[in-house]
Amino acid sequence: MLDGDIVEKYRRAGDIAKRVREEAVRIAKPGMKLLELAEYIEKKIFELGGAPAFPVNLSINDVAAHYTPTLNDEMVIPDGAVLKIDIGVHVDGYIADTAATVTFNPAYESLLEASYRALDKVIEKIGFGVKAYEIGRLIEETILSYGFKPIKNLAGHSMDRYIIHSGYSIPNYFDRSARWSFSDGAYAIEPFATNGIGLVREEDVATIFSLRSSGRRTRLSYVEKRVVEELWRERRTLPFCERWLRGLCKGVESIRNTIQLLIRKGLLYLYPVLVERGHGYVAQFEHTFLINGREVIVTTA
Ligand code: MN
Ligand code: MN
Repeated sequence: MLDGDIVEKYRRAGDIAKRVREEAVRIAKPGMKLLELAEYIEKKIFELGGAPAFPVNLSINDVAAHYTPTLNDEMVIPDGAVLKIDIGVHVDGYIADTAATVTFNPAYESLLEASYRALDKVIEKIGFGVKAYEIGRLIEETILSYGFKPIKNLAGHSMDRYIIHSGYSIPNYFDRSARWSFSDGAYAIEPFATNGIGLVREEDVATIFSLRSSGRRTRLSYVEKRVVEELWRERRTLPFCERWLRGLCKGVESIRNTIQLLIRKGLLYLYPVLVERGHGYVAQFEHTFLINGREVIVTTA
């Protein structure tokens, strides 16, 4: 069984993430700047007493995940877009990871429905002792029944304190090799549905990064050192983005330079933007599940 204090922190993180997600879904509209939406969401997380577990992902159409607005990002939500809003919140390192999709084109409503319904069925099925492949099978069956495909190389994940992917993956399809079963802990489950081929590939561009280590053994310039020390103190290995370095470096150039230098020194892990390989449109819904003996808490529902 999980400690009561820990459960409470997971619940608080989940409640904040849920409220922010709902508000983001309400205010997102075509023509709105992604940067404005991202900053609104991240500010709200702090106001409610949490901190972002990762930069909010605002991924449009065939972009499945891992796009967060850059500094001075001019992109706006296009007319008729399929927009995924993926939000992470942590309270003292205990994480809630949740996503919803909105569309401004009625033609894509059934694509959203496929992912939403798959997650709904997971809520009914999941529990202590359930095997990961059973969840994957349920997700795949549900998405296929709508005439779409699950994205096979994206998966749900177990989480731990300050760790978003702590080792176990929950497939979005019937993967017989996923024989492990759920036990006490936190899990994010995220069915991705697409009208493309059902796979993503990494683009050459990354907007999200995380530290690989504290950097104490690496030779760093004064600015690099300040950035690394601050990130390590605040976030450990939790992801960050260039927008969050505004207070630490002077100007866009300096921020981008510092990130490039830290990449070259091997200190950063990159999360490349993920695009559907057939350029199909992608929908995603995600909740965080806390399994605690017989109890299942959907912290973000
Ligand atoms: Mn997520
Ligand atoms: Mn996730």
